[in-house]
Amino acid sequence: MNSSSLRLQNKNILITGASRGIGAGVAQKLAELGGRIALTYSSNRERAEEVCKSLPGSGHFILAMDVTQSESVQQGFEKLNDVFDRLDGLVNNAGITSDQLILRMKEEEFDSVMNTNLRGTFLCSKLAVKKMLKSRTGSIVNISSVIGQMGNPGQTNYAASKSGVEGFTRALALEVASRSIRVNAVAPGYIVTSMTDSLDAKQQEAIVNRIPLARLGTVEDVAYLVAYLLSDESTYVTGQVLHVNGGLYM
Ligand code: NDP
Repeated sequence: MNSSSLRLQNKNILITGASRGIGAGVAQKLAELGGRIALTYSSNRERAEEVCKSLPGSGHFILAMDVTQSESVQQGFEKLNDVFDRLDGLVNNAGITSDQLILRMKEEEFDSVMNTNLRGTFLCSKLAVKKMLKSRTGSIVNISSVIGQMGNPGQTNYAASKSGVEGFTRALALEVASRSIRVNAVAPGYIVTSMTDSLDAKQQEAIVNRIPLARLGTVEDVAYLVAYLLSDESTYVTGQVLHVNGGLYM
């Protein structure tokens, strides 16, 4: 895909969890392509500020938003509405893992992952759709995971949350298609971020051995796909889960 042909000029885009990792990489790519980016963080304001300052172009800003808390999401959107007259894109990226085999998994570990990954996607999408309905256009991209389809021992909470995100994606796509609002998901495989840094060298090697393209992915690999789904080049694509996983799952 030739990224220079993707049209994102002057699009207003909100990315949750953009203080590092995939969110920060997506912000970089979307800003390079002409988007105006609102980046959210939950705890790491300094890092979010650094990411924001590093973005090319102008008009980018940061917002505090804990996606598990409806009040915090509401307040974040109020601030967003002061700056953005229109919202062209939402990337529901904020996500966590809390791995444990089921017999040892505490209810709080299950709930925190569901609340961040799935409930957060619901809360942010609800307010984004409200704004997008006014302009009768918009694109929502939910960051799922290959684990949502493959499953993985120790990740019942995470797999359930990401399968949920994919079902949510299809249902919402059907609800809002008549208003030209599109909803898709991107399901990355193993991407180099702090989430995968927590795996030790042996675990990383075992993962790479299972990947046909024989490497972990980069945030840029994911960012290109997100940029495509937010761009005017993908206006006939909705309700889909696009995979970027080096062939790990086919
Ligand atoms: P990171 O751990 O690097 O970053 C997570 C981001 O989410 C941070 O910006 C963090 O903000 C934010 N966040 C966490 N909790 C909340 C919350 N309650 N409210 C708002 N923001 C929150 O993760 P990755 O970049 O690796 O992952 C990003 C997404 O990609 C996730 O949805 C993940 O499931 C998915 N994914 C990742 C893969 C990988 O291999 N890395 C593979 C497949 C999917 P702060 O630092 O301010 O708390």
